[in-house]
Amino acid sequence: MTHSTTSPLANLGEFGLISRIAAKVFTHESVVTGIGDDAAVTAISAGMHMLTSTDMLLEDVHFRRTWHDPYRLGRKSLAVSISDIAAMGAIPRWTLLSLAIPPELPLDFVDNYIRGFLAMAEEYQVTLIGGDTCSSRSGLTISVTIMGEQYPGQIVRRSGAMPEDDIWVTGTLGDAALALKLLESGETVSDKLLPRLLDPNPRVYAATTLAEAGLITAMIDISDGIMADYGHIAERSGVGGCIRLDELPLSSDFLSYSAHFPVIPYQLALSGGEDYELCFTANRNNREKVVGCAKKCGIAVTRIGIVSSSPGVTAVNPDGSSYKAQTEGFNHFK
Ligand SMILES: [Mg+2]
Repeated sequence: MTHSTTSPLANLGEFGLISRIAAKVFTHESVVTGIGDDAAVTAISAGMHMLTSTDMLLEDVHFRRTWHDPYRLGRKSLAVSISDIAAMGAIPRWTLLSLAIPPELPLDFVDNYIRGFLAMAEEYQVTLIGGDTCSSRSGLTISVTIMGEQYPGQIVRRSGAMPEDDIWVTGTLGDAALALKLLESGETVSDKLLPRLLDPNPRVYAATTLAEAGLITAMIDISDGIMADYGHIAERSGVGGCIRLDELPLSSDFLSYSAHFPVIPYQLALSGGEDYELCFTANRNNREKVVGCAKKCGIAVTRIGIVSSSPGVTAVNPDGSSYKAQTEGFNHFK
């Protein structure tokens, strides 16, 4: 076998790569048999349901190797899946990772990618239980499947929002979209803004705490912008909503950057992607409890609007006039 440094799959072989990964995996007690057999065996906690979600990340569609260093790409590729389980109020537990690797990808890249993926996994107590690797003819393709669990009564769906409920979001909006815009135009991005795009934190603790407290009626993670994602809650719940622009939580970096940049701040905060914050609805009688719960989790929450019984989601300017927003988030098929 020749040992060039440029072809990880050819040199290591698929099984070499897998055992290289398996050696570093954090293993949760629920995993009976992990990587290495024909299938993984896991034990679901008594009385809980299993939740499953899958995501693909394609080079030059979802990420660029020039912007995303492999370590943070590894972290992010699992974080976005963890975020989907969190958005249901559930606990992320097990993950499957499949990679189609271009032959020219340096072994270092693969190693650092895996290091990032496994660091994120351990941080959230998620066990990598299997996956697949193969050679890609064009670009790196990442496929992540995640499974979580929760008691049936604590699983939060998109469909439970009620008219008059408050609409809430965690954290700040638009930071990742602004960071992307700045990168695209070759500008420098601040140390606070850049991780919002490259290394998002899934809000698992806040989501499960709110869900377990029975405080929320519907929830989604914000991956495509608040207008589009709240729109999914509205659609699934058979309601509408009104979002007040002056209530949108914007970070200080977002405000100072966007002042010097020819973008409409509201537009990025409303329709920019990849915030990975939570949007949820809650009965207005629970306002103080929601704030208390979020405080306990160390996360900021902001009330940005109200659920309406009539369909359609509108954004309202500070003066009360309706804001003509581009209501769709990132659409892969456009
Ligand atoms: Mg989602």
